[in-house]
Amino acid sequence: DRLSNRVALVTGAANGIGEATAYRLAAEGAAVVVTDIDDERGRAVVAALAANGARAAYLHHDVASETDWQHAVEATVERFGALDVLVNNAGVHGERESIEDVTLAAWERSIAILQTGVFLGMRCATPALRASPHASVVNISSIFGASGGFGGSPAYHAAKGAVRVLTKNAAVHWARDGIRVNSIHPGFIDTGLLGSASTEQGGASAGMQQVMLDVTPMARLGRPEEVAAGVAYLAGDDAAFVTGSELYIDGGFSAR
Ligand code: NAD
Repeated sequence: DRLSNRVALVTGAANGIGEATAYRLAAEGAAVVVTDIDDERGRAVVAALAANGARAAYLHHDVASETDWQHAVEATVERFGALDVLVNNAGVHGERESIEDVTLAAWERSIAILQTGVFLGMRCATPALRASPHASVVNISSIFGASGGFGGSPAYHAAKGAVRVLTKNAAVHWARDGIRVNSIHPGFIDTGLLGSASTEQGGASAGMQQVMLDVTPMARLGRPEEVAAGVAYLAGDDAAFVTGSELYIDGGFSAR
């Protein structure tokens, strides 16, 4: 087991990519702290993990809240004795307006969750990560953290781009402390987030789905498990010399 005796905290792990990541890290031997604001689904994920014999716990945790972050890290160390792997995954599609129509409040809410949440996570976890001989941070950005996408959702793109460079900044800063930091850039992955984006943007979910297939060379959506496999790689010692890198799991989208 690549991650036995490691403790992982995965944000937004009640659904989608985070949920698949929690299952995968547990399957690799890690104790997993599932955090989210969706308490019902989060507890169900932990129940499924425990039923498979994994060490797991659920914490209510809004990633935009500094107090919640402090509590989440403290509770993780108290419960499992360490924090080795931090996966900053929680996210929302957020504001849907284009740049001339997005309100300041909508902009700030998206930035708070998608960008400030990642900063707070790395800052609050620093003492625990420094204490770990195997510290690895995996930040979930997006293909839209490295391109302008379809031209809408400016805060989503800005925040995901910030996560990409913040990852590299932290990687360089911590390189000699043994804390690795990498970003993952999923393409179109079949989760609830994608469903909400497609219905609200065009009103025509099927039409938007076709656009996503058209712009993806492999002509299919990705599965959450395919992103989780990348997280598991970056989390463990197979990636011991990998830091500050960006891993695209996107069916070829970014290669065009
Ligand atoms: P999802 O909606 O299935 O899951 C997101 C989870 O985050 C949910 O459980 C939700 O409750 C939680 N969450 C939302 N706001 C939160 C907050 N303030 N604090 C804590 N948790 C919160 O979405 P997903 O597709 O699994 O997305 C996971 C990550 O992957 C996100 O960062 C998203 O931007 C990114 N991503 C997704 C896709 C895609 O196509 N699905 C593509 C690129 C990047």
